[in-house]
Amino acid sequence: MPKPVLVVGAGPVGLAMAAELARYRVPVRIIDRSAARSDTSKALAVWARTLELLAGAGCVDAFLAAGFRAEAIGIHAGGRLIGRVPFDRIASPFNVLLVIPQSETERLLEAHLASLGGTVERNVELVAFTDTRDGVTCVVRHASGAHEHIHAGWLIGCDGAHSLVRRTLGMPFEGDTLSTSFLIADVQIAGLGIPPAELAIFWHPDGALMIFPISPGRYRIIADIGARSGHPPSFEQVQAIVARRGPGGLTVSDPVWLSHFGVNERKVRDYRAGRVFLAGDAAHVHSPAGGQGMNTGMQDAFNLAWKLALVEQGQAGPALLDSYSAERSPVARHILAESSRLTRIVLLRTPLAQRLRGFVAHRILAFPKVRRAIVDRLSEITLAYPDSPLNTGSAKGLHGPAPGRRFMPDGPVQVANAPRFVLYAREDVAARAMIARHPSLLDFRLHMPPDENGIWLVRPDGYVAATARAGHWSVIEDALSKIAANAAHAVNTHGAADAPGVPSPPGVMPG
Ligand SMILES: Cc1cc2nc3c(=O)[nH]c(=O)nc-3n(C[C@H](O)[C@H](O)[C@H](O)COP(=O)(O)OP(=O)(O)OC[C@H]3O[C@@H](n4cnc5c(N)ncnc54)[C@H](O)[C@@H]3O)c2cc1C
Repeated sequence: MPKPVLVVGAGPVGLAMAAELARYRVPVRIIDRSAARSDTSKALAVWARTLELLAGAGCVDAFLAAGFRAEAIGIHAGGRLIGRVPFDRIASPFNVLLVIPQSETERLLEAHLASLGGTVERNVELVAFTDTRDGVTCVVRHASGAHEHIHAGWLIGCDGAHSLVRRTLGMPFEGDTLSTSFLIADVQIAGLGIPPAELAIFWHPDGALMIFPISPGRYRIIADIGARSGHPPSFEQVQAIVARRGPGGLTVSDPVWLSHFGVNERKVRDYRAGRVFLAGDAAHVHSPAGGQGMNTGMQDAFNLAWKLALVEQGQAGPALLDSYSAERSPVARHILAESSRLTRIVLLRTPLAQRLRGFVAHRILAFPKVRRAIVDRLSEITLAYPDSPLNTGSAKGLHGPAPGRRFMPDGPVQVANAPRFVLYAREDVAARAMIARHPSLLDFRLHMPPDENGIWLVRPDGYVAATARAGHWSVIEDALSKIAANAAHAVNTHGAADAPGVPSPPGVMPG
């Protein structure tokens, strides 16, 4: 009986992680110390890259049906619109910002996990663990007070910003906490004279006011309010800030959530220690500016799950798992730097700096290229792994993405239930021979390359692993050998599951 992977925390990251492992038929248990799913709306933004990955996982339609499609963001100052950035230029099949409360995201991910046979074990708290080199012995406490020892193959800490897993590993959470805090409120607003599918930022000498649509008539308000007081904001304070910083004439009513938050900008250096991994807020926390935190965390899950599946199933060597931190840690560093820059722009205080901010924003947002660059970054479609140890070959002289870059095929995204690399190459004997030689790593289908003079080897998470000129199959062979090196057993135990006409085995095995 294989040991299960233990995922600690059923927030959006833990749920995405458990669902991905379940999709790949890795035995997994997921626990959460809370008795029920959170009902707060927290992260509202699901960006294009996350939607693409959810499409690959086979559950994006439920998200699109439940969410609200925001089409643009407008920046207002001094009573005028100084710049507008539309989302329809995002170079993705999902060229919108999907606005969906985090509670809904978690509900949908939990339903997706259930459809794969997995269940969240609630009221179960991780209290201690020991890495025994051939597994991780975890002690969990049930609601009754009883303790259980779980002998897991791997432990994944998706247990949020105050992660017990991170603290037990003794990993420093390096970075800063800003002195300014923000008010947050979910309310009804009437009289807002901007298109209903538009996010609006109002820059005012007192500070910023952000108004984001959640559903028709309902909005999320965020405003910086200086040093944090011990009390949550009052509804009167929200009304006063909207009246002073907003466009005027707004009626704010029906608050369903009033809170405040401080901004932490921190990350760990390494996301792995032996058989223990960190993902999501446990590994990195950001300013909410740009709405990147949850998206980045969920993408950690999409990065790690296929690697763990291939290693657990004996098709890849353990070194593959080192690429998780090597790839995801630089991504978080980059996102932290960008969201920190955005936050500091929002928090500019002196009249001169504020005037300059308005002037520069007005000028540069007039350029389509700048608007495009902004949405490409926010939507995370340009995030890449240019320095990944998995990259092989080069796309020099070819029309198509280089190793480490995102690869978007034409047509609908394929949903696979085994973690397989995909070959994009001209149909010929050599291509078929390559697929025949690596049935447990390569999908049996061959696809048209973006440039017929080249070959692309694409990872299960949609990033390019290798590129070569047509005929240079040794590059692809090298890339696959690197993955398979020291694999426990390089036999094809799961390849048949994707073959046409062969039914898929049932979903996750509970641990
Ligand atoms: C006000 C606010 C607004 C935000 N807006 C955005 C936004 O617009 N876009 C965006 O991308 N991000 C946003 N974020 C950030 C986003 O909410 C987080 O990045 C996201 O929740 C991280 O998910 P996670 O799964 O890593 O951690 P969490 O959501 O914190 O989940 C961790 C889970 O682990 C469980 N847990 C903890 N310890 C244990 C233990 N020992 N044993 C068992 N279970 C345990 C907890 O009960 C919890 O369910 C916002 C955050 C806040 C506070």
